[in-house]
Parts: sequence; structure tokens; C-alpha cells
Amino acid sequence: MNEINRVCVYCASSAKIDQKYFDATERLGKQLVTNQIEVVYGGGAVGLMGKLADTVLEHDGEVIGIMPQFMRNVELHHKKVSRFHFVADMHERKKRFLDGVDGLIALPGGCGTLEELMEVLTLKRLGILTQPIVILNTDGFYDPLETMLERCIDENFMAQEHRNMWTFVREPEEILNALREAPPWSKDAIQFATFKE
Ligand code: AMP
Repeated sequence: MNEINRVCVYCASSAKIDQKYFDATERLGKQLVTNQIEVVYGGGAVGLMGKLADTVLEHDGEVIGIMPQFMRNVELHHKKVSRFHFVADMHERKKRFLDGVDGLIALPGGCGTLEELMEVLTLKRLGILTQPIVILNTDGFYDPLETMLERCIDENFMAQEHRNMWTFVREPEEILNALREAPPWSKDAIQFATFKE
């Protein structure tokens, strides 16, 4: 079983999304606090990012925001989050997200969330990171992504083994178990990162 003490959560900045996504985010936030798990996130004050931070803070949990300075300059940072790291740019932010985290969680989101998720899947495929990655498929939001990844495997753009890099779950309460029970992954993944012939 994987020990999970700190997670990074990728999620939407938009506030104009259905309430069901906020509810799912709140349920996750409570679960993380109950299990004394620290949360690292993008530092935003609105959308699912804001909801996540608000929930964790309301329940006396630990949340760490990581944001590029240019976003602080336009006041996008969450004012109640006291543990903040302001970094030079988006690249450094994504690197810092991974510092000391035991698992990665993607909630529904737009291109920012998708990009962050695709980057960690790519790094995992190369064996550069080995942590479990769990994708919250609230109400089928991520069905098209799951279909896309399956197609990548079916058409040999990726190998069957790569399916072990991610877990899709429907409910926030399934996330922690999915992280804890994710198949082990090793740096040796570079050996089968792609088909040579
Ligand atoms: P998205 O899933 O497209 O909403 O992207 C989430 C990511 O977009 C965050 O991790 C940030 O990189 C960036 N982002 C966009 N808008 C904001 C905002 N208002 N506050 C903080 N981060 C934002």
C-alpha cells in the first residue's frame, strides 16, 4: 500500500461551472483533512481551486499554494492561504507541484488542468516520477479522455502497461483508496516507454 501524506490537486479555475463539481471538490477536501493529508495546489481563489482551499482551511487542514508571481500581481492568489510559494513562471510552478508529494489528483478542469495532467502522465511514462495519479471522473466528465487514452493503447501509441499509470474514479471518496492501492511504478519505466519496432 502506498503511504499518502501530501497530494497535489489539479483543478479548474472557472467559477462558472455546474454545482456538482463544487460539491465533489468539497467532499474531496473534507476527506483529505480527515485523513490528515496536506494539499498542494495552484493557489487560486476561484473555481474548484478556491473551493478546495476554502474547504481545507474551514476544516483546519493544511494547504500550500504555488503560483507564478505574475498571477499574484493581478491578485489571483487566495488571500487566506498562508503557506504560499511564489515562483518565477508556469514551468517552475509545475515542477514545484511535485516536490515531496505522494500522489497526484486531477479534478475536472480546462486546458490548464489537462496540461498539468498530461505532463505528469508523460513524466511517469518516462520513469521521471512514480507517484500514483488519480483522475476524478465526476458524472463522466473525463469519459472522452479515458476513451482517448484507451485508443492510444489500442493503436500502439502506448503499451498495455501504461494503463497502470492512472486510475479513473467516479466519486471523491474513492480517491484515497485509489492512491493507496495504485500499482507500483518504477524509474525503470523508461525501459518500456515506447515500442522500438
Ligand atoms: P484550468 O483547468 O484551465 O482552469 O486551469 C487551471 C490552471 O490554470 C491553474 O493551475 C493555473 O495554471 C491557471 N489559472 C487560470 N486562471 C487562474 C486563476 N484565476 N487563478 C489561478 N490560476 C489560474
